[in-house]
Amino acid sequence: MRPPICEVCNKDFNPSKEGGLLYFKETPEGREFEKRVKEEGIVGHPPDAGWFCGEHYNEAEKLVHLTLGEVIEKPQS
Ligand SMILES: [Zn+2]
Repeated sequence: MRPPICEVCNKDFNPSKEGGLLYFKETPEGREFEKRVKEEGIVGHPPDAGWFCGEHYNEAEKLVHLTLGEVIEKPQS
């Protein structure tokens, strides 16, 4: 698992106080990762999951039907 750094603003935050990890729409990379977790017992950061700070978590939560790539490529206002 990656350390909790916001995918949007790169803020290093404490997930026990704010924000958290969100899982987005499954991608082929995510499927491959899940398969390797089950079959090979690998550990690591799921490619379809991202950390979001308190400021960006709520907005990101509305977009979990998209892939993480689509969400973080969106222009930020
Ligand atoms: Zn943020």
